[in-house]
Amino acid sequence: MIAENTPREAVAVANPWDTARRQLDTVAERLGLDAGTHARLRQPRRMIEVAVPTRMDDGSTQVFTGYRVQHSLDRGPGKGGLRYHPDVTMDEVKALAMWMTWKCAVVNIPYGGAKGGITCNPKLMSTSELERMTRRFVAEIAPVIGPETDIPAPDVNTTPQIMGWFMDAYSNLVGKRTPSIVTGKPLDVGGSEGRTEATGRGVMIAVQEVSRRINLELDGARLVVQGFGNVGQYAADLLRDENDTITVAVSDSSGGIYNPKGLDIRQLRRLKEEGGRVTDYPDGDRVSNEELLEIPCEVLIPSALESQITSANANRIQTKLIAEGANGPTTPEADQILHDRGIIGIPDVLANAGGVTTSYFEWLQGMRHEYWTRHEVIGRLEDTMRRATAEVWDVYSMEKVDMRLAAYIVAVRRVANAIRAAGCA
Ligand code: NAD
Repeated sequence: MIAENTPREAVAVANPWDTARRQLDTVAERLGLDAGTHARLRQPRRMIEVAVPTRMDDGSTQVFTGYRVQHSLDRGPGKGGLRYHPDVTMDEVKALAMWMTWKCAVVNIPYGGAKGGITCNPKLMSTSELERMTRRFVAEIAPVIGPETDIPAPDVNTTPQIMGWFMDAYSNLVGKRTPSIVTGKPLDVGGSEGRTEATGRGVMIAVQEVSRRINLELDGARLVVQGFGNVGQYAADLLRDENDTITVAVSDSSGGIYNPKGLDIRQLRRLKEEGGRVTDYPDGDRVSNEELLEIPCEVLIPSALESQITSANANRIQTKLIAEGANGPTTPEADQILHDRGIIGIPDVLANAGGVTTSYFEWLQGMRHEYWTRHEVIGRLEDTMRRATAEVWDVYSMEKVDMRLAAYIVAVRRVANAIRAAGCA
């Protein structure tokens, strides 16, 4: 039986689409957004659900379900990743697409927001099954994407290799090589220098910028990372390199590992590269993913999936700063609790915007047939992230709201201005 005072979201996983809409409603009220623009932004512009029949290695055919959602195209082509995961649903993709709209607007790059995914378990599929599924998915969504319409990218469980297949399949369909249909490609087929680690680097820059403003000393600061994948690994590694932080706990889907004296990030990364799990790391105590979030630290980086910090655990979180590497890891109830407790949260739409920013650089290089050096890419990423963090910080300190609302104020204002400037039919 559920205790009467147990919050609803503590017993059922929060629906990310509800979370995303409630976040929009809060900022719409704060901004006094007109009802028409608010209603328009509450609804994705276009959604497509497709069947993805795939021939499996044993000769059978399995039909997966794929999605692409374009939330807003008001500031430019849709942009957003593709997720391969057993829990992918249309509601999740809609939420992620809306968050992409705000993210692109926060860092002020000329894109709208989109997202896609396939409900599948890539860990149970061979490389050739994944390739056939990806190519078929491209054929199914090709009518609604394009280098100036909607440009996918990697997300959970989608690698540069998958982006390479994506680009090739689309190019074959349209009859000409089209590298700018997708970003996050391998370097050899038009990828950008610095893209692989860009999201983690962006997290690092946002952490540095906010720490400086709240007088948080990063040298020796303890880091906890939930989700030791692309984002989490690079964020931890780069923060250690540049600021001598000490990562005391990390996790993946197998669980977590904790050592108050610090973990060897390079050894952990090697372990993951060789197909291992963080729980294979020998020098630490096993913790669950729930326990990991409550470990005392100065910086907590949730970089796995949505709805991890809820009203059920927000009171037990012991950190000074949260940097959301993942999209949507904190529910609105938890946001309020953390804010009341004086814990600062750098919201996803800012903290993890380094990935889409560098995707934009990759797309520009493709469209212009240019090659930018690693130095150029990192320099431009730093400029963009530092400027965006400063803009959000100014609203945060002037309006006395939490950082998520501050970021949303910046973003929604930009999107609403674009809608007004174009006029609404
Ligand atoms: P990834 O697949 O490389 O890594 C995800 C990691 O999370 C894996 O180590 C996985 O084992 C772990 N994980 C899965 N379920 C977990 C759970 N319940 N508890 C703890 N760990 C769990 O994915 P990624 O690209 O690093 O993406 C992680 C998050 O960052 C997602 O929310 C994604 O939307 C967001 N993000 C990614 C990018 C990017 O460029 N890759 C950009 C912006 C945002």
